Amino acid sequence: MVATDGHAKPGALPKRAPAANCNGRRANEKSYCKQAAGHGTDHVGYGRCKKHGGSTPNGKKAAAKLMAEQMVVGYGLPRDIDPQDALIEELRRTAGHVAYLQKLVADIEDQDLHGQVGTTGSSEGKTYLAKSEPNVLVAMYQTERKMLERIAKSCIEAGIEERRVQIAEDQGKLFAQVVQGILKDLNIDATDPDVGKVVRRNFTLIDTGQSAAAALN
Ligand SMILES: [Zn+2]
Repeated sequence: MVATDGHAKPGALPKRAPAANCNGRRANEKSYCKQAAGHGTDHVGYGRCKKHGGSTPNGKKAAAKLMAEQMVVGYGLPRDIDPQDALIEELRRTAGHVAYLQKLVADIEDQDLHGQVGTTGSSEGKTYLAKSEPNVLVAMYQTERKMLERIAKSCIEAGIEERRVQIAEDQGKLFAQVVQGILKDLNIDATDPDVGKVVRRNFTLIDTGQSAAAALN
């Protein structure tokens, strides 16, 4: 077997990870590629350029991982686990939270969907009208739904299989149903913000073995 990579010849240029530039080693082994990361590939901005293996399966995988790492930082997720796992965990948690809020919103009576903030009155000859704002649960639901869309998109961009993304979303929904059933049977008010916080946090603690299964595939 002939070693072609990773076994640098004496005096050869050491490998350099891609950053803003591709950093692949030029054929003369004397300088690094100055092309922008991912130049000419479908992952512009990350990893090697097309000429330096960026479009090979391994080059694509490496770029997806770099992208996932950056997304993890952007979303403020834990960095002590695989970045793709961190994203899928966040997706599951958010999907669970959306399903949880959706049920609460569906149970709100129509007249309570908007609430008055402040009171109507007058002072110094001016009249002040109370503002009408959406119910806090409705606002949370809308925010969280947008987050879910963003996270799902990020997961796909970071190279996570669509099937795995779908499974995580379904699991989140399922857990939300179970939790809601338990809260109802125990007569606990699911609209209590403190309850909501505990529920959301616990969607993260679920270990489905998905990560392990994915690692074996
Ligand atoms: Zn290059």
